[in-house]
Amino acid sequence: MGKYIATIGIECHVQLCTKTKLFSEVDNDARSKEPNSCVSPVDYALPGMLPRLNGEAVRLAILAGRAMNCEINACSRFDRKHYFYPDSPKGYQITQFYHQIIGAGYVELPSGTRIRIEHAHLEGDAGKLTHFGAYSLVDLNRVDTPLIEIVSMPDIHSAKEAHDYCKELWRLMCYAGVTYGDLYNGNMRFDVNTSLAPEGASELGTRTEVKNLNSFRSVERAVEYEIKRQTKVLEAGEKVIQQTLGWSDATGKTTPQRSKEVAADYRYMPEPDLPPLNLSSEYIEAESAKLPLMPKDYREKFGEIIAGDTLEILLDYPSLMEKLAEVALLGHGVAPLLANLFASVLLAEEKSAEYLNDLPSAEDLAALAEMNEKKELSSTATKEVFLRLFDPQMRERGTKQIAKELGLIQENDLGALEVIVDAVLAKPETAKAQEDFRAGSEKVLGFLVGQVMKESRGKANPSAVQEILRKKLS
Ligand code: MN
Repeated sequence: MGKYIATIGIECHVQLCTKTKLFSEVDNDARSKEPNSCVSPVDYALPGMLPRLNGEAVRLAILAGRAMNCEINACSRFDRKHYFYPDSPKGYQITQFYHQIIGAGYVELPSGTRIRIEHAHLEGDAGKLTHFGAYSLVDLNRVDTPLIEIVSMPDIHSAKEAHDYCKELWRLMCYAGVTYGDLYNGNMRFDVNTSLAPEGASELGTRTEVKNLNSFRSVERAVEYEIKRQTKVLEAGEKVIQQTLGWSDATGKTTPQRSKEVAADYRYMPEPDLPPLNLSSEYIEAESAKLPLMPKDYREKFGEIIAGDTLEILLDYPSLMEKLAEVALLGHGVAPLLANLFASVLLAEEKSAEYLNDLPSAEDLAALAEMNEKKELSSTATKEVFLRLFDPQMRERGTKQIAKELGLIQENDLGALEVIVDAVLAKPETAKAQEDFRAGSEKVLGFLVGQVMKESRGKANPSAVQEILRKKLS
């Protein structure tokens, strides 16, 4: 039995963080709002109501497109996609079927592999149904929340690559500032198409589509599962059925939702209530120029000085990378030290979200790195002062003052250190160790350094102490 090659394409819906909806002026941020409280007559599709395009959604679509190295089409338009479902009062979705705003481009994965983007388009979301046994409730708050749907080419060939693509896409959208990126609340939802074909085959196999995944991990698991399941089907000499599947994190399985033996007829037609969208090249260029630094830019900037795995952890936090770049501008080659502090302290403590909303100033961070570099702070003390800088009240005092108040500044004055060393060497309890060291035992040096550190209440610079001890005991 030959080997099978998996081919995967992903469609991703990204919820844009505009103030208002795509075609009306009601609040687009329905988190913590009552059901059906963020709905306008336009969203209800009352007779005579006309949609009006939200310019901010168009602007964010341009940024999203540029973040994916895509062409932005000067001319695009909207179409009606018809289907009947209680979550969609209009009876159709307004989308861009024939002429989309975002053209071809690519997403580059951390590995360097490029996944091509076929196109991306603007569209309105549907409402939400919640089912309770015999009845269902409709919440229209989400109706016509602006989305961009990003369609990849089938360039992905493993579960891991599917995971990495989704994650990089999430980062790009967050860095571009077009979405809150809250995966838990469905701000980005992934539909994953998977097919298998024998190695060397010229045609792709029959694909299945797993709908509505909202975490990178479920994307990876669902693809893994589908590859295994389809391999079994093919090896048994049977045919993969083209169908839409759901995924359950709990069971770790995909289950059929509906067969796609007959293609759904959406009766697409141009939306008569919205004029074509014409963008001047000046406008596209001016908005594109506002795209901030992207993960790729940070990899180029810091790739040589920050360890790759640390950098990849930090890259999940755009505000943190911005801060690192700001501190690096102040010089001192401080990025590696701060990167390690951020990575070890923030992420280990799992307070990242709350910490990252309110980062210390670049000046305080640079001062901290400088004190560490001059050995005024030990690495433990550096970490301690770093943590205090996240306390807004402590922070006001500045790095130096905090270090001073906590008594953490290291004694580097050799004269002062010698006095302490002499005091320790005069103590009878160190006599034996001194004798042993002179007799050639290196390991007692640690004990003596420890005694000096204790005497200095932790403020002595240990390497300076070691040097003085060696001199005095030789
Ligand atoms: Mn869609």
